[in-house]
Amino acid sequence: MPPILDIGGKRRKIIRGERSLHKRDVTAEFALPDEAATVRLGAALARGLQPGLVVYLEGDLGAGKTTLVRALLRELGHGGPVKSPTYSLVEVYVVSSLYLYHFDFYRFDSPEEFNDAGLGDYFGGDAVCLVEWPEKACGCAPPADLRLRFVFADDGRVVEACSASEKGALCLRTLVRIWQDGGC
Ligand code: ADP
Ligand code: MG
Repeated sequence: MPPILDIGGKRRKIIRGERSLHKRDVTAEFALPDEAATVRLGAALARGLQPGLVVYLEGDLGAGKTTLVRALLRELGHGGPVKSPTYSLVEVYVVSSLYLYHFDFYRFDSPEEFNDAGLGDYFGGDAVCLVEWPEKACGCAPPADLRLRFVFADDGRVVEACSASEKGALCLRTLVRIWQDGGC
């Protein structure tokens, strides 16, 4: 019987370090003391991806969002460069028949630029969508299955993860399991 933690009056079950309200709402926290830890988290996330997953990557400039995506792509076998999509808005990767779209909306002045650029066409299919600065397209970009929020902590980072769909919960559970087993 897992321990029960009472937060804000709600009973939450702790399952091996992850807190869960119900099957579709999983949260977890990952301590990343250095860049190597961010790389490990990206590699672990790569193993939990499923077609069509939308992952929001939130956090300030330099927090480690692109570093995580680069590590994820390396783990999947991508050997070429992984550049930040800050200017291109989207970079497209095809790795062993899986499509991955890496977005960065940092330069948007308004969320409507998402629609003006026709970016909605990239979502809703089998491609994995990894989105930096999703808040800049708030209300226009499709919702996330999984959100990873990068927070500066001393010299390192903490990532607060939370699922927003069953698909996201499945991915996050896999990520937690790999992480607890020692990562990649
Ligand atoms: P973002 O895409 O969030 O703007 P980048 O990934 O481009 O950030 O840059 C992150 C910077 O922080 C890089 O210089 C990287 O070496 C460093 N970094 C990444 N993860 C960590 C970490 N866990 N601790 C300390 N430095 C990190
Ligand atoms: Mg970036």
